[in-house]
Amino acid sequence: MNLKNKNILIVGLAISGVSTAKALYKLGADIIITDMKGIDDLKDCINELKDIDVQYILGSNDVDLKNIDLIIKSPGVPLEIPLFKMAKDKNIEIITDIELAYRISNNKIIAITGTNGKTTTTALVGEIFKNTDTNCCVTGNIGVGILWEIVNANEDDIFVVEASSFQLESTKDFKPDVSVILNITPDHINWHKTFENYVNAKKKSFVNQDYNDYTILNYDDNIVREMKKELKSKIVYFSTKNVLDRGVYVDNSNIVVNDGQKSKIIISSSEIRIPGKHNLENALAAVSTAWVMGVELKIIAKTLREFKGIEHRLKYVDNINGVTFYNDSKGTNPVSSIAAIKAINSPIILIAGGIDKGSDFTDFIQSFNSKVKALILLGETAEKIKNTAIRLGYNNIHIVKTMKEAVSLSFKISTNGDNVLLSPACASWDMYESYEKRGEEFIDSIESLRRA
Ligand code: ADP
Repeated sequence: MNLKNKNILIVGLAISGVSTAKALYKLGADIIITDMKGIDDLKDCINELKDIDVQYILGSNDVDLKNIDLIIKSPGVPLEIPLFKMAKDKNIEIITDIELAYRISNNKIIAITGTNGKTTTTALVGEIFKNTDTNCCVTGNIGVGILWEIVNANEDDIFVVEASSFQLESTKDFKPDVSVILNITPDHINWHKTFENYVNAKKKSFVNQDYNDYTILNYDDNIVREMKKELKSKIVYFSTKNVLDRGVYVDNSNIVVNDGQKSKIIISSSEIRIPGKHNLENALAAVSTAWVMGVELKIIAKTLREFKGIEHRLKYVDNINGVTFYNDSKGTNPVSSIAAIKAINSPIILIAGGIDKGSDFTDFIQSFNSKVKALILLGETAEKIKNTAIRLGYNNIHIVKTMKEAVSLSFKISTNGDNVLLSPACASWDMYESYEKRGEEFIDSIESLRRA
């Protein structure tokens, strides 16, 4: 695809926008960037682009579409905005960066998607490749824009891409060599409108795949298992619950790969350092991916033994007077927080609440199963979660205004042996810029407790 002298509009200037602009400049395109935010809010991004020639339209989307050849949409910009409606009327194509990355490169791409576990699995696959001779680039929703990386890559570098439903929704030809679907439960319904639309967005990671490609599917997730019917690619299932005729599974507490003829033990599941059954699923997905890519089993085993997980995902923070604190700020939907509650020993004092994504909290409250001794709520959804809890007969609830208050209250009501878990079951944007900032405030508040 030749982009030289093409007029390309980038809508949304965040991580992917910056990476896209730099890449397009290198490819000789003429670039216009629009963002509803103004210069002050975008100064860091603009600074990163100071050496390249870009026309900015900031604080509005007032763009003249007359000569625009292609639009690259940042994943977080909704497709419903008037600008895109006008672009569609003019038959201007709107795609996300992963689609363009696919079109302009011949690198092998592994796309990892699912409702939960994407970042953990993507990072783990990246770590496995780091232990091989193959150069691998970890990009996408994990916080690294793909396009700048791909225009600077060598031909045989492998791209491991964390692909969100927002990114996948606006793809067309995208055809990864390996597509991994970890799990699917309702999330981002406020964005996709229906669960069906959300599932269809995820399916875009494999719709173009053929018999040369692999699709890794979670056998234990009914919706994901059934996707087999729609596939033309080679399927590898993984399962924590079933011994499979072919695939990657747990048998007698060992992680096993089975090519349909012979099974081989990789390591004991007890050697994995990332906690919880959900992380065992992520590990199996990563093993499946590395296995189909031909990575030696002993390298996979070594990496699994070493990988300690990533920040804000069920991470141990501190133990103060016998009370242990865990940060799972990335628990941004009910299913991920249910996984965290299952993974942590009781008694738990749970801090939850945040922005309302249209989630239902019934299963979340029901997962407390007498493990959660107190629930501390903050943010926009505090009342909604409280009402669901009371309807289900759970009454030990405290509503607070700030994270600092939540942490000091949790410590005040805790006794030796308790676990305080921040796993909000909601996104953070009602009170914070990001889940990272929320997690950092949690950690800072714990440090203040220690100093007090
Ligand atoms: P994603 O990138 O899909 O949001 P992460 O790896 O960042 O996934 O994890 C997000 C949250 O979901 C964390 O709170 C984590 O503990 C939880 N989680 C991770 N993997 C799973 C899984 N397979 N099933 C359920 N929850 C999970």
